[in-house]
Parts: sequence; C-alpha cells; structure tokens
Amino acid sequence: MTDGQTLFAVFALLYLIECLRLMPSTAWMAAGSVKSRWSTIRPWMRFQIAGGSPLLLSAWPPLQAHTLALPWLFIPEHEVLRVRLTDRMIVNISWEKLALRVEEATLHLDSATSVRLASSAQAQTWLQRLAEWRDLAPEKRRDAFLQHARASLDTQAAKQTAAEAAKRTRSLRRLATLHFIWCFGVISVIYHRFGDSLLVLGGAAVLLVLQIIQSWLFLCTTRQMKALIPYRRWRALGIAFLPQLAMRAADVVSLATNHEPPHPLAWRVLLDEKFWLQTARQFWREARYVPGWSHNDSMPPEAEALQTFFRHENIAEADYDPPSAAKLPVCPRCGAEFQTGIATCKDCGGVELRNPAA
Ligand SMILES: [Zn+2]
Repeated sequence: MTDGQTLFAVFALLYLIECLRLMPSTAWMAAGSVKSRWSTIRPWMRFQIAGGSPLLLSAWPPLQAHTLALPWLFIPEHEVLRVRLTDRMIVNISWEKLALRVEEATLHLDSATSVRLASSAQAQTWLQRLAEWRDLAPEKRRDAFLQHARASLDTQAAKQTAAEAAKRTRSLRRLATLHFIWCFGVISVIYHRFGDSLLVLGGAAVLLVLQIIQSWLFLCTTRQMKALIPYRRWRALGIAFLPQLAMRAADVVSLATNHEPPHPLAWRVLLDEKFWLQTARQFWREARYVPGWSHNDSMPPEAEALQTFFRHENIAEADYDPPSAAKLPVCPRCGAEFQTGIATCKDCGGVELRNPAA
C-alpha cells in the first residue's frame, strides 16, 4: 500500500466508526429525508456493551436524517417488573428487589440487570418513573403503564419529530454528501491518475474549505438547541478539521431531542404500510400470546395498550391478528404447526396452541 492508500483506508475506517452508536439493544432507528419513506435499522443485539448494543447509522450517500424509537422496556406486572433487554430476552425483577441506580445513560435495576437508554436524561426519567411505580398499588401501576404507552404511540408527534430532524439537517446532509463524494471519490481518482502531486494537494484544500463551511453551518443550525448538544463548540472545531466529523455532522443534530422516543409502531406514517403492518403483527403476537393467554381473564398490559391503539387507528383485528389457515393446532405466537394432541409450544415458553377453526 502506498502512503496515499493507507491514508484513504484510515479515513474510511474513521468514517465507519463515526457512524457507529451505542444504543439500547431494543432500539429502532429510522433513516430518511424530508420527502422519502423512512427505512429502519436495528442494533447488533448479539453484542452487549454496557447494557446496550452497537448500531450502524445509514452510512452511504445521499446521507439521511435519523430518528429513534424504543419499544416498551419496562412493563409492570402484579408481582414483578418485566424488563426487556433484547427482542428475545426479558427478565422479571420482583418489586422488592429493585435497586435503581443511574450511571450515565445506563439504568441499573438490580445487581445483575442493567439497561442502556438513549441518553442520561432518559435514564434519570426512568429511574424516577420506576421508583414511582414501585410505590403504587398493582392496578395503579397498570394504569400508569397504559398512560405511558398511549403517549408513546402518538403517530403525529412521531412524524413531526422525524420531519423536524430531516428539515433541520437538510443543508448539513447535502454538504456532507458532497464532502463524502469529494473525499472518497474525486480525490482518490485524482490520486490514482496523478499520484503524489499538487493536484491532490489542491483537492485536499477543497476538502478543508468544505469542512470549514460545514462547521459554520453546524453552529448556525444548532444555535437554538445549545442545551441538547454537549461540547457544541468543540464539536464545531472538530468538524472544521476532521473529515469524518464533518461528514457525520448531521447525526448529532438529528438525534438531539428532549422528547422521549416513541414506540416503533408510532411510525405508521413514516414507514412503508406493509412493513408497518408486519411489525404491528409481530408486536401484537409477542404481547398477546403469553403462557396462560387462553384462560386468563385480562390481557397483559402491553396487549391492552396495543389493542386500544389499533382500534384508534382503525386497524381491523383480522389485519393485526390474521386467522391461521392451518389445518393443525398452531402456536399463535411463533406460527409453528403441531400434531393434534400437543397443547403448548415449548419454543415460546409454554404458550397454548390455537386449534384450527372448525
Ligand atoms: Zn411458539
């Protein structure tokens, strides 16, 4: 490798590192722009770091804005608090054993369990909320959860947060896209053709000018939101001199918000309708079909919140919980079919099977 190629590889690596974020393991990220449909990105849940997982933001041009959503991480049950650690891992902590403590964005629930939230402010909010829930009677806890769930399923608010993030970062993203193409395209072509030459030096000078303009744009864009962006001026200085910070300047702006992240289903207007419905079915099955579903009097609080939401959004039950066409007993949670005579699905922790319609 020549010096130029090594430098190029280092830039590419630094750029990718700048696209990485440590997020709650259950997080949903949407990437899009003012007019486009938004697509979703999930973290690598296999890697657990400080109660969270790494997530790679949308990295290729045209660079996009991002907005965050979180499923319900804490669900109060009668005896225990259910804590969602990843999509598949849920732990129960008895209310008496709850020992709440916050360390930056990580909320510790007992000696063994911790959950990363999107920011330290949100970790504090949950610390207070869970302490309040602990002191309530079980019925009141359920009400408090349903109230939180309703607020997190506000589709208009979620749409507005995303639209604002896209609008606010539009010029930053446009310039960053130009900068990206210049850095990884134009300069490498010049270098490839002419080697170490004055022309490459000229290309690098253009890069520096673009960075300085980006730094100025960043300061203008964030003038109204100083409190939400820590070390704002230092960051602007970094943008002026470090290409990877200049190209990703929009990320910190688009994710800076003091609102609580909505539930992913609140993105109904942002996402493709078919994909959204698929996601809604998934959330519904996991909330509704828990062991005991066929004979319990009341639904789990999550399922109740989702049902209220679907009714409010005019989604028919046949759409979010389509009847199975199978001729054999089927697990309503994972969809697996079983021979007659089997009553529960072991893979789903003993969920009762649904018999085929006669
Ligand atoms: Zn199953």
